[in-house]
Amino acid sequence: MLIGCPKEIKPQEFRVGLTPAAAGEAIGRGHSVIVETSAGMGAGFSDDDYRAVGATVLDTAEEIFAKADMIVKVKEPQAGERKMLREGQLLFTYLHLAPDPDQTHDLLASGCTAIAYETVTDSNGGLPLLAPMSEVAGRLAPQVGSWTLQKANGGRGVLMGGVPGVGPAKVVVIGGGVVGTHAAKVAAGMGADVTVLDRSLPRLRYLDDVYGGTFKNQYSTAAATAELVQQADMVIGAVLIPGAAAPKLISRAQLPTMKPGAVLVDVAIDQGGCFETSKATTHADPIYEVDNVMHYCVANMPGAVARTSTIALGNATLPFMLSLADKGWKQACEDDPHLLNGLNVHAGKLTYYAVGEALGLDV
Ligand code: NAD
Repeated sequence: MLIGCPKEIKPQEFRVGLTPAAAGEAIGRGHSVIVETSAGMGAGFSDDDYRAVGATVLDTAEEIFAKADMIVKVKEPQAGERKMLREGQLLFTYLHLAPDPDQTHDLLASGCTAIAYETVTDSNGGLPLLAPMSEVAGRLAPQVGSWTLQKANGGRGVLMGGVPGVGPAKVVVIGGGVVGTHAAKVAAGMGADVTVLDRSLPRLRYLDDVYGGTFKNQYSTAAATAELVQQADMVIGAVLIPGAAAPKLISRAQLPTMKPGAVLVDVAIDQGGCFETSKATTHADPIYEVDNVMHYCVANMPGAVARTSTIALGNATLPFMLSLADKGWKQACEDDPHLLNGLNVHAGKLTYYAVGEALGLDV
């Protein structure tokens, strides 16, 4: 199969769909790979890195889209890219179609077959192509939160680990899933005093078994949250209710009860945010203050560490990408129901129920 990887064109997107290592694996199995020039630059991969594994570097996205049997990307195709997709072509990338009727109509009109990273599943009920980005965002959250806690950035001027004779920062993580667990591990590793709140007792049992000596956990009620938030130097919002907007777990009225200069890091901002005063920010201007409380609400946190994110995403997509290339999408999806769950669009038809329901379209 001829696999094509164009350069990402969405603003502030530095990741790339294929790493040189992934391209090399595909080439080693007899496939051919074409990559747009400088596609990997934002993640630290040069054109020569791709050439070294046997890929061909082409000058324009037009050539990639015109020639490739399968396009491998990171972000959903932008309007200009969608015009270049053609009937029978396979697209493997994040799509997030439910809130995006324009993209959905364009993909249907193109006649392509589109497999969305975010709806591929695994045998534990997880989303294996979303998890790596949650891991990145979770581990990044205490890092950006501790920067925000510094005085010059508007924070309380508290060091995460304290020093001998001075206690550590108090960190509260709301939501103990993938993001929350990774955030808690890193915050604890920095020496902070960490408590994780969750509503799922099985999850709390797991956290207690595995991380009991590393951080505390507590059942998430409004009263427990209010009490912990008053004492916190940093609160990390990491909740998810699948398919729903994030619940607002800290109201504006609660901000004056917090310590002045405390920090809220709202990782759930991509689902609307779990603090009432959260509004999405960018890497260029990530923080703002409301009622003496600093907020960090960047919706695409993994973009800040594009190299780590690209390699992590590539590790997760590789087996699926190779299966699609080796067998073709039809056989690959027949053999793997979890990959089949990724199929969102085929030959002008919507094939994913939740997207159809959200957009009022037939499936
Ligand atoms: P997850 O499903 O693994 O974990 C969510 C956890 O929240 C679950 O354990 C659930 O029990 C818990 N929860 C639900 N309601 C709760 C409540 N009221 N109180 C306490 N806990 C509650 O999800 P995840 O992968 O960890 O993702 C968390 C959020 O981070 C999602 O909104 C996701 O979209 C977002 N995210 C954002 C970025 C970014 O760049 N900003 C990147 C990755 C993920």
